[in-house]
Amino acid sequence: MDKYSVLKEYFGYSTFRKGQEEIIDNILSGRDILAVMPTGAGKSLCYQIPALMLKGITIVVSPLISLMKDQVHALNDSGIRAVYLNSSMPYNEYLNALDLAIQGYFKIVYVAPERLENPRFLDFVYSNPISMITIDEAHCVSQWGHDFRPSYLKIVDFISKISYRPIVTAFTATATDKVKKDISNILQLKNPYTITTGFDRQNLYFEVQHPRDKFTALLDIVTKNKGKCGIVYCGTRKNVEEVCKRLQDKSFKALRYHAGLTNEERINNQNCFIYDKCDIMVATNAFGMGIDKSNVSYVVHYNMPKNIESYYQEAGRAGRDGEPAECILLYSASDVSLNRFLIDQTENNEIPLETLEKIKAQERELLKYMTFYCTITNCLRSYILKYFGEKGMTSCLNCSNCLSNYVDVDITIDSQKILSCVYRANQSVSIAVLSSILRGRKTELISESGYDRISTFGIMKDSTDMYIRNVTNHLVLHKYLYQTDERYSVLRLTKLAKEVLVGDTKVTMKTLKSQVKKSKVVKNTNVNTNDSLFDTLKSVRQNIANVQSIPAYIIFSDATLKDMCKKLPVTKNEFLRVSGVGEIKMEKYGETFMKEIRKFKSKN
Ligand code: ADP
Repeated sequence: MDKYSVLKEYFGYSTFRKGQEEIIDNILSGRDILAVMPTGAGKSLCYQIPALMLKGITIVVSPLISLMKDQVHALNDSGIRAVYLNSSMPYNEYLNALDLAIQGYFKIVYVAPERLENPRFLDFVYSNPISMITIDEAHCVSQWGHDFRPSYLKIVDFISKISYRPIVTAFTATATDKVKKDISNILQLKNPYTITTGFDRQNLYFEVQHPRDKFTALLDIVTKNKGKCGIVYCGTRKNVEEVCKRLQDKSFKALRYHAGLTNEERINNQNCFIYDKCDIMVATNAFGMGIDKSNVSYVVHYNMPKNIESYYQEAGRAGRDGEPAECILLYSASDVSLNRFLIDQTENNEIPLETLEKIKAQERELLKYMTFYCTITNCLRSYILKYFGEKGMTSCLNCSNCLSNYVDVDITIDSQKILSCVYRANQSVSIAVLSSILRGRKTELISESGYDRISTFGIMKDSTDMYIRNVTNHLVLHKYLYQTDERYSVLRLTKLAKEVLVGDTKVTMKTLKSQVKKSKVVKNTNVNTNDSLFDTLKSVRQNIANVQSIPAYIIFSDATLKDMCKKLPVTKNEFLRVSGVGEIKMEKYGETFMKEIRKFKSKN
């Protein structure tokens, strides 16, 4: 079978998306791969199709149990023999699965990195031809990435235990150049075909708000999106509890998700969300990785996350179906301290203390770039794209900054006050302390250090903390100031600062004049869907999903249901032409859906 037949027969698609075909061709020619493609781009197909075409078995190393389960369910539902092996399985089930794997029953085997050292698993590997090893979420191998997992370092050892060298392919949604190099070096990829398909997700609208009251701002967003599906990410479990309760009190169908809940409640709440039985999931970052739900219309961050990688990944869970979706971040200065606190608290016995300290310093550095995102006045999308090493644009017309009226304001005098205060405080204070000095707050620390006796004490008493923070961040962003990476990060003057202090350089900052929300320019891939038929097909899908105990989107995605509403197929051949319908699914579900379509046609 060629790649096009596999694409149609098993996955139901007629054309490849950007990057997919090249990757598949390169794998089939025996080459290693390093692919960076954004969430929703279709990475899985890039290795699943060659896995079916190559002789032998493909092992997929994946960090997340939920991700493996979903992928394996979806593959099984399309008639592909796949299995996952991880610690969540009952031991008997694990042994049975492994036995079948040893007998060569499966074509694709998903495994958690921790399992790679297991002797029984190695038995399976030694007794079967392994054609390819795929590393999903490959950024986890890099300490400079945002989600380092020490167990990922075992992958190379594992590969070296095999007497021949299978093809090694690495996939991730987010990786800076540094992380890409790390992936390639650590995994010892051999002359990999490297591809970055571009990070831009045009259907996503980005917004940062600095609200006085976050809950009121959130209420405004969820009210506007009533009936649609959304995720609200909070920085702590406590916030999750509080926000969820307050939304429920206002009669929103919201549920909570965080690592402190019982397994049962987590699974139940996640299922309610996936099965469209609740509209809003209020969650910590524990929620979402590997959740493929394609019809999430908005993602709100109630707290600023710790880095752009996490933000883009979490926000990117909106609009996977290509429909317009909103990503809104509610920023406050305390989010910065919360994140610093969380970084400082990190413990990990698996790595030496010195390395851990280096990682923490790196995390503080990444946090800076996240903070800039929340305080810049230029195009937000462009900022993200440039962060990932892509060319940005001057204006995307689909983010809150591009849709607002900004004026350039001369902030030279305030900049001089801030720089001078940094100097007078011996370049040894954090932004928070600096702000307190400038505003003339006599805290214990300030009195003890004598900062209340320096000439800049109280020199900006009429400004807000937020303003001082914004100007300071602006000075850091434009390299007049440098923020150190230690645990107690302090501000230092750079060479450029002198030019501002002596009046040779003017500093300007864009300041909001008014927010003129024009209509958002988004690619609307919405087909002319008949709502009532769409709802009927959704409930047919839901019923099947309930019977089989699998998430509804595994049966057919919303995009596939919409294509049915557009094409109104009533014969097998017509049904096969719907995007996302393959042979097996047509046989399994075709008649049930066509029955409803026929009823609809005869009524209309
Ligand atoms: P990623 O892993 O990159 O986030 P997925 O592999 O989960 O993305 O794919 C996202 C969605 O796009 C899935 O619903 C998948 O079935 C769909 N998809 C993938 N490739 C194609 C294609 N060539 N044509 C249409 N839909 C596709």
